[in-house]
Amino acid sequence: MRLDKFLTEAIGKTRSQVKKLLKAKNVTVNEEVIIIGKFQVNANEDKVCIAGKRVRYQEFYYLMLNKPKNVVSATTDIHQQTVLFLIRNKVKARKKLFPVGRLDKDTTGLLLLTNDGNFAHELISPKKHVPKTYRAVVAGIADEVTVRQFAAGFSLRNKEPVRPAKLKVLETDVQNKKSKVEVVITEGKYHQVKRMFGAVSMRVLELKRIAIGKLKLDSELKEGDSRFLTEQELNLLK
Ligand code: URA
Repeated sequence: MRLDKFLTEAIGKTRSQVKKLLKAKNVTVNEEVIIIGKFQVNANEDKVCIAGKRVRYQEFYYLMLNKPKNVVSATTDIHQQTVLFLIRNKVKARKKLFPVGRLDKDTTGLLLLTNDGNFAHELISPKKHVPKTYRAVVAGIADEVTVRQFAAGFSLRNKEPVRPAKLKVLETDVQNKKSKVEVVITEGKYHQVKRMFGAVSMRVLELKRIAIGKLKLDSELKEGDSRFLTEQELNLLK
């Protein structure tokens, strides 16, 4: 690729800023000063430095965010804060990151962000059935009957069928008529978890995603915080 493109992508500067760096003889490729933007570099093999400091080119980024409430899973929104705002300082290069699927505004927990369209497609495509695990607090007492209903699969209130889902009852509070549950779904229909509980006459009061496939939300990550996935974590998803 061209050296000027490599630099704009790698360090997030504009073409004219890069031009200035080159003109000022600040850039070396394999220890040789290069001032021509169209000079060809191999992004993986050549050693490109600015003022002696190595610059690496990374094509794809993968981040996990612990999404807080009141933030929308979108790239832009004129009225509301988006998840992209929360990761604004993570990737300096001007890469077009986007959330992998959506969580509702009031849902918290694991949300991935990337600029790798194929990776995102593999995780959210309805044909792939990647399991997504949620913890929820629901109004009502979830019991063995509810577990069996979820295991059998059923139709939502609009008659739309849903695939079987694994439901585990973690705690029931009989006095306050609430249950803490864990549910694993293998589809991503609109408001699916809320609508599944709605179909068995229970309202979801709190919802948090804790895993996508084998990748678990890092319990050290506070709400609103994000970090890059490690190589091992990425391999769990590929
Ligand atoms: N199901 C829902 O109802 N909401 C979410 O945010 C995710 C899954």
